[in-house]
Amino acid sequence: MSQIDTLPPLRDVIATHQLSARKSLGQNFLLDLNLTAKIARQAGDLTGCDVLEIGPGPGGLTRGLLAEGARRVLALEKDSRCLPALNEIAEAYPGRLQVINGDALEIDPLEYLTPPVRVVANLPYNVGTELLVRWLTPKDWPPFWQSLTLMFQREVAERIVAQPGSKAYGRLAILAQWRAEARIVLSLPPGAFTPPPKVSSAVVHLDALPEPRYPADAATLSRVVAAAFNQRRKMLRASLKGLSPDIEDHLVAAGIQPTERAEQVSLEAFCALARSLKPLD
Ligand code: SAM
Repeated sequence: MSQIDTLPPLRDVIATHQLSARKSLGQNFLLDLNLTAKIARQAGDLTGCDVLEIGPGPGGLTRGLLAEGARRVLALEKDSRCLPALNEIAEAYPGRLQVINGDALEIDPLEYLTPPVRVVANLPYNVGTELLVRWLTPKDWPPFWQSLTLMFQREVAERIVAQPGSKAYGRLAILAQWRAEARIVLSLPPGAFTPPPKVSSAVVHLDALPEPRYPADAATLSRVVAAAFNQRRKMLRASLKGLSPDIEDHLVAAGIQPTERAEQVSLEAFCALARSLKPLD
């Protein structure tokens, strides 16, 4: 195994700065720098890019991103205990790492970033899903990011890439595949993390499409799929009746049988339904 940088091993960093993992912050750290460099490579060519990293923790993935040549890394970390360790990395890579201490759900990072931007994160899963949905549903497209490379629970990763007719198919699959090309690029067993989580993980890579696969208003499509999959066993005429008094007409106009269930409906048909409910300007 080769060394990716001359900074101390992560076990020593964690011991020096007393970064015992906190469950409340979803802290399962990656300590193998060859693995973090490998994850960084899944994000594509970083040399001409700013990278937005969420949840750097002691900095394993941050070091991977910098060693793989990221032009700049902007790292948002909620746990202030990690700042001294992250400052040491910033000193080793002058001018290339900026750290902001705060909650990624509340910080708007755009003013600190210069395009092209790639997003890379190993986050607690609930925060990761919430951010993913936000990144996929801005009103206008293309978004501020060129790609997202995100660690998820394996089961969530499978939901992002799922196809119609499968149990995993739902809101995440539709929102992700509508505006991006999504694939699982790496699988990791619990033992890759310290402490090990209960479940396996996977890295999903999403490339933003230049434009959505089918036209639709983002907010309407989000509302339709949330309602449709919230009661996924019901027929769509029942699960969607709160959206419009004429929901059966809209379903038929979109080429969907009112008796179908959400699981059977393609992305293209959901977009047609969103357009029928709210025609685009
Ligand atoms: N990136 C590091 C690694 O791969 O070893 C740490 C990963 S750990 C799974 C998740 C990190 O996200 C922790 O450092 C945690 O403190 C941080 N975090 C949790 N919630 C956050 C939030 N809302 N905003 C920013 N960082 C958060």
